[in-house]
Amino acid sequence: MRVILIIGDGMADRPIKELGGKTPLQVTSTPSMDEVARTGVNGVMDSIAPGIPPGSDTAHLTILGYDPYKIYEGRGAFEALGAGLKVKPGDVAFRGNFATVDDSLTVLDRRAGRIREGAEELAEALNGLKLDPFPEVQVILKNTVEHRCAVIFRGPHLSRMVSDTDPHESDHKINEAKPLDDSSEALRTSSIVNFFTRNSRMILEKHPMNAERRSKGLLPANAILLRGAGVIPEVRPITDIYGIKALVVAGGALYKGVCNSVGMDSINVPGATGNYATDSEAKAKSAVENLPKYDFILVHIKGTDSASHDSDLGKKIMMIEKVDKLVGHLLKNTDPDEVFIAITSDHTTSTDSGEHTGDPVPVSIKGPNVRVDSVQSYSETDCAQGGLGRIRGSDLMPILMDLVGKSIMFGE
Ligand code: ZN
Ligand code: ZN
Repeated sequence: MRVILIIGDGMADRPIKELGGKTPLQVTSTPSMDEVARTGVNGVMDSIAPGIPPGSDTAHLTILGYDPYKIYEGRGAFEALGAGLKVKPGDVAFRGNFATVDDSLTVLDRRAGRIREGAEELAEALNGLKLDPFPEVQVILKNTVEHRCAVIFRGPHLSRMVSDTDPHESDHKINEAKPLDDSSEALRTSSIVNFFTRNSRMILEKHPMNAERRSKGLLPANAILLRGAGVIPEVRPITDIYGIKALVVAGGALYKGVCNSVGMDSINVPGATGNYATDSEAKAKSAVENLPKYDFILVHIKGTDSASHDSDLGKKIMMIEKVDKLVGHLLKNTDPDEVFIAITSDHTTSTDSGEHTGDPVPVSIKGPNVRVDSVQSYSETDCAQGGLGRIRGSDLMPILMDLVGKSIMFGE
């Protein structure tokens, strides 16, 4: 018995006026997800708690059975891990952007014209950078996608309790990193980060790649903006808790990183981009191919959430259709007597507001011997009528593991 859990990031939504007060899931044709709902058990889920809008990182941790209030220590380390960097306990990792700044360090473009070519070379120029006043600190920097990078500071006495240098909008100066608590570690880390900002700015400004960009009329990538400082949580691996082998199939670094941090494997699927262009059927195929080796496979689709953040209803519907195709491929190519298929979202993302909200998300689970209820289609309101009732994110893994016979009895 095995489980494939499909998470459409931010797929759940609120009612939308243009859709006659219905949600995108209610109006989009989703024959495969409806089949899972019709032949499965359904419910709604508060990833963290009712009314709490989760971040994607905390939502995934809770869905994997961990209490984010106890273990969550920032996003940056997950991104770095998911980007393929080794993150050690004590490392402080950030999400970074190559950006364009002027001489006064005012940000002209937070994404350096969405730089593609040359970003790897610029990252190499900063990877391993020595910070003179802090010889015991190592800087590890890797370009990920377009203007994005992962940045790790490694050394003694570091703290994640430092503020972002990223001002989060253009026409603002790069922020000084500030300590967020009274510890000497936070103060020291903020000094290290600020030194890195100035030093890396000088190196990037003089880099031949930026001279070339300027000569082509492109914006130079002459600064690094940092945000989301984090350290890796030290937890008992999910593989150990349930005695399973577990895999994540995702395009986005964050999701790979969260899953890696709890002991899951990840693979790179060609065409799995983490954006609208993602090849969802390639992900489904990869899940099917890997099924013999794993008890639990999480397949993540990001574009549903991005569409809502962009308030782009057409894209949200298009991405829901892609999720449905993925589910269709899984239904056709897996043995219904051996494989459970579960579908959910990590949180609701409102296409109207472009923000995550605290509304519960639909859950459907199809598989041998589930208590099939009367729900006929997969949506926020339909699933709410189902036999699972209203659960928390932290209930999902125990429910799935109990269905596949991996639970441990409590009492005698
Ligand atoms: Zn999310
Ligand atoms: Zn989101």
